[in-house]
This record gives sequence, structure tokens and C-alpha cells, in this order.
Amino acid sequence: MQKIIVAIDGHAATGKSTQSKRLADTLGYTYIDTGAMYRAVTYFALKQDPEGSIDPQRLLASLDQIKIQFRYTSEGQQTFLNGKNISKAIRQVEVTGHVSQVAKLPEVRAFLVNQQQTMGENKGIVMDGRDIGTVVFPEAECKFFLTARSEIRAKRRHLEQLEQGNEQTLESVHENLKERDHLDSNRSTSPMIKAEDAIEIDVSDASIDEVYELLWSHISKKVAL
Ligand code: C5P
Repeated sequence: MQKIIVAIDGHAATGKSTQSKRLADTLGYTYIDTGAMYRAVTYFALKQDPEGSIDPQRLLASLDQIKIQFRYTSEGQQTFLNGKNISKAIRQVEVTGHVSQVAKLPEVRAFLVNQQQTMGENKGIVMDGRDIGTVVFPEAECKFFLTARSEIRAKRRHLEQLEQGNEQTLESVHENLKERDHLDSNRSTSPMIKAEDAIEIDVSDASIDEVYELLWSHISKKVAL
């Protein structure tokens, strides 16, 4: 069967990764979480500075020391930075609070976009992020852009964070989502925008299964070709 590229972009905490993982499983494709890659670079940058702030010049001078890999373990797909499993660490509030600041650096984007394009050169991938349908794979066969009301996204992300043992108030989760969306949508290099040919889905009032069925109804037409 002809392999395709599925690009899932959209706002923070709209369930992109949940849907992408499931779609990749159904298709027998590789799932690539590009947000985890930006988070890994942010984690690296925070570790560079003993005070835990980010020095963009220092980070850019050491991009060649960053090796990001996705590997499968008994806990599913995990993110490794220079051989260390950082999957949990990159979901912490410190990384989440700085990631948009790192993701706006054009050199960081060029560094990661290049790797993402290599990962997808043989197609057969489901990739989620902010610029996949616009910049990384503008020729992707299937493009989606997920949105939802920010209150709903905040509630869902807050619950997830609590389940992972990350204590945060609902308000701070909500503020972070809004701030990231603002920074991600307004940066000068590859801002988060819906690709012209992407299908926009508002997931506010839909269950995970309903969103999955909708995504699949579009994708199944393309893979059957
Ligand atoms: O998807 P996730 O919420 O984990 O992404 C974390 C951050 O990484 C986003 O808020 C955004 O700043 C950045 N990002 C990006 N481009 C992508 C994926 C993520 O700028 N393709």
C-alpha cells in the first residue's frame, strides 16, 4: 500500500499526540512527536546554565552536541537526549514554561526541521507539531489542524499533569497554554498557522473516539488510493 505523511498541527493540549499515536498504530506508521524535540532542546539549554535560565547564544553554539532519539521501551515510545531517557523531565513545568522561547529561535527550528524531514523521507509517518503542514512537510497528503476552547484544554492538561504527579493549579496550566499559543502563533519564523489545505477540527465538544473517527474518515480515503 502507498505510504503517506499525516501532519497534525494545532494548539497546545488539543490531544494531538493521543490521536497521532493511535493513528500511527492503526496505519503501522512511525509516530513523531516534534514537540518532544523542542522540549528536549529546552531541557538541554536549561541544564547548560547552573541557574536554570536560558542563554540563547550558548545554546546555539552547542546545537551540534544535541542528539535526540525516539526509542521504544516497555513504557512505549520514549525520548532520549544524548542517550538519557528524558521523557518525564521534558513534561515538567520548567521545560513547559521555557519551550516557546527556545522554539522561536530560527537556528533551533532549522536544526530540528532538518531532522524531522529526514525522519519522514520514506513517508509512513504521523507527525504532530505546529508547523508540520506548513513548513516541515508542505506536501503531506493529509493535514489537520486541531483547536479547542482554552478552558477545556486547560482542564484536560491539568488532569493529565496531576496523574503524572505534577502538582499545578488549573489557573497556571491555563495561563501557560494561552501564553504558549500566543508566542507560537506570533513568532516570526514558522508561526503556528493552519495550512491552507489543512482540515480544521474543533475538538472542544468531541470525545477522543469521535475525533479519531473523524480523522480516520479522511485518512482512510487517502491510504486506500
Ligand atoms: O506539542 P507540545 O505542546 O509538546 O510542544 C511544546 C512546544 O514546542 C510548543 O508550545 C511550541 O513552542 C514548540 N513546538 C514548535 N513546533 C513544533 C512542535 C512544537 O514550535 N513543530
